[in-house]
Amino acid sequence: MCAAVTGDLQAIIEDIHRTLKPRLGEGKVADYIPELAKVDPEKFGIAVIDLEGNVFKAGDCDEAFSIQSVSKVFTLTLALGKHGETTWNRVGREPSGSAFNSIVQLEHENGKPRNPFINAGAIVVSDLVMAGHTPREAIGEIVRFVQYLADDATIGIDPAVARSEAATGHRNEALAHFMKSFGKLTHPVDHVLGVYFHQCALAMNCVQLARAGLFLAGNGRNPLTGHTVVSSQRARRINALMLTCGHYDGSGDFAYHVGLPGKSGVGGGILAVAPGRASVAVWSPGLNRNGNSLIGSLALEMLAAKTGWSVFGGP
Ligand code: GLU
Repeated sequence: MCAAVTGDLQAIIEDIHRTLKPRLGEGKVADYIPELAKVDPEKFGIAVIDLEGNVFKAGDCDEAFSIQSVSKVFTLTLALGKHGETTWNRVGREPSGSAFNSIVQLEHENGKPRNPFINAGAIVVSDLVMAGHTPREAIGEIVRFVQYLADDATIGIDPAVARSEAATGHRNEALAHFMKSFGKLTHPVDHVLGVYFHQCALAMNCVQLARAGLFLAGNGRNPLTGHTVVSSQRARRINALMLTCGHYDGSGDFAYHVGLPGKSGVGGGILAVAPGRASVAVWSPGLNRNGNSLIGSLALEMLAAKTGWSVFGGP
C-alpha cells in the first residue's frame, strides 16, 4: 500500500463519515423482513483493515448488524472448498441483470440460477454446503467458518432475524420449490431454506466483517492469522464474481462508480475488497432501488476516489 494513503486513511474515513452523515435519511430500510424494519436508519459505520492489520474506522463500526446477503461470499467459499469447480455445474457465473429475488430467468435456464449471489443461486449454494450434513450441522459449519475467517469466536446468528425471515420468506420458498421442480436441489426445500435463512441472519459489525473478508484482499491468505483460506487463483475468481454479480441489478453501476469487488446485503452492509491493499466494510441500513446500501455505496465511491484503489486504476 502507498505509504501516504496509510497515513491519511483514518482522516479519509472520518471525512467520508462526516460528509455523508447528513444524508442518512435518503435510503429506504428493508421492511419485507419485519425484524430488519426495526433497525435505526441513522446507523452508519465504516471499517478498513489493511494487509498489515491496521484498522481504520468511524461511526457505528462496532455495532453488530444483519449481514444478510454478504454471507453469500462466505458460503460460496465453503461450497468451492467442498465441491471445487463442480460447483459451477449447479450455479452460473453471469450477472443476472434482475432483482435479487427474481424468479423469471430460472424458467429460461431449466432452474439453474445465473450466479451464486442472487437469492436463487445462494439457495443452491446452501444446498451444496449441506452435503453430508443435517441442517443444524451445516449452520454450525457456516458460523464456525465465518468465526475462523474473522478470527473471532463471538460471531453468531441473530435468531429473531432468522425466525422473521422464515415467517415471511414466501418468495424464497417459491424460488426453492421452483428449482426443486427442476431437480436442482438435493435436500428437502425446508432444510435448505433453514440453512439459507440462518446464514443470512449472521450478525457482525463492520470490523468483524472487514476481517472476515481480508483473505480476499490477501491473495487467499489472511495476513492477520497467517491462514491460507483459499488459493490465490480462487481468491481472484471470487473477487471477479463479486465485481460482476455482487450488487444484483446494480452491479454495473457499482463497478462504474466504485470499481472494487463488493457484496451487499439488504441489512445495509457492504463488504468491499481492494486486492493487495485492504478489506472494507460499511453499514448504513437505508437502501437504494436495487436493494444496496445507498450511503454505503457512496462511502465506497468516495473511498475509492480518495485512495485510488479502484481495480480499474484511479483515482
Ligand atoms: N435474506 C434476504 C433474502 O433472502 C437476503 C437478501 C439480500 O440481502 O439481498 O431475501
